[in-house]
Amino acid sequence: MLAYRRLDIIIAGAGSTPADNSRVLVCWELVTQHSQLDQTSFAVERSLSPQFSEDEYEVLETAIAGEPGVMVYEYVDITPSLVNFWRRYYYRIRASTPEGEFVSEAKTWETSPRPHELEIIQRHDFILQYLQGVPSFAFVERTADARHCICFDKTAGRPTRSDCTLCLGTGRQRPYFEPIPLFVDYNPDQELVNISNFGERQPKDKDCWFSAYPQMKPGDLIYEVLKGTIWRIANVNTIQPMGTTIQHVCRLTAIGRDEVEYSRLPQRIPDAMLQQIVQEWERTKEERMF
Ligand SMILES: [Zn+2]
Repeated sequence: MLAYRRLDIIIAGAGSTPADNSRVLVCWELVTQHSQLDQTSFAVERSLSPQFSEDEYEVLETAIAGEPGVMVYEYVDITPSLVNFWRRYYYRIRASTPEGEFVSEAKTWETSPRPHELEIIQRHDFILQYLQGVPSFAFVERTADARHCICFDKTAGRPTRSDCTLCLGTGRQRPYFEPIPLFVDYNPDQELVNISNFGERQPKDKDCWFSAYPQMKPGDLIYEVLKGTIWRIANVNTIQPMGTTIQHVCRLTAIGRDEVEYSRLPQRIPDAMLQQIVQEWERTKEERMF
């Protein structure tokens, strides 16, 4: 019997119009008793309705192979921009095993911005990409009930090695989602910082702001590409005038260059992705000169 513990749907980027794609992270976790994972494969299905009626859903991927011992899986759905054509997609997972097929519940993301909120988000995205932001990558930590790493001491309730290269000291299996490109302004308006009420800033800290996506929380990491710096989010203030996050203001703490994150995380950014975001930024920098 295969059973799902959870299914997370996270918007990593809504995409700006007209050409940009949006990215939706689909992450599922199995309960631990399952054994025949080497004979299991997963399919990701998407529908505009939670009913998944016949002919009303598409199969995005059919052959994600199960691996013995691995309970957490993910898939990145790259779709046309969600901005302006705001659709709500539902996702579910279908596992094929020697004992038959097991389908997860259908889930979607939490809230959808309304048209006027989307307009603000788009304006912010534009400002960040063309004026004030610099290329960065977000590493979003998985939720706390992810599987424990082998270094985790269940009796003590904490990881035993802060330099563990598997979990990066988090104590959890596959602690971060795949890197998500974004533009961040590391020199925010003082007024914006003041309303966030972070208190006095320590010399090693920095403040920043970025747009609505990806949604980030304390403990998540941001890699500043041009300086090669990894920041940990110490504090977040989300601007939500109508209940939907349209902007993040963060207090960041630099991670020491000798920490394990530096030897594991930037390496996970595919070269092509890194080149693309830097080239795009260089190109718009030239355009800004006129
Ligand atoms: Zn570990």
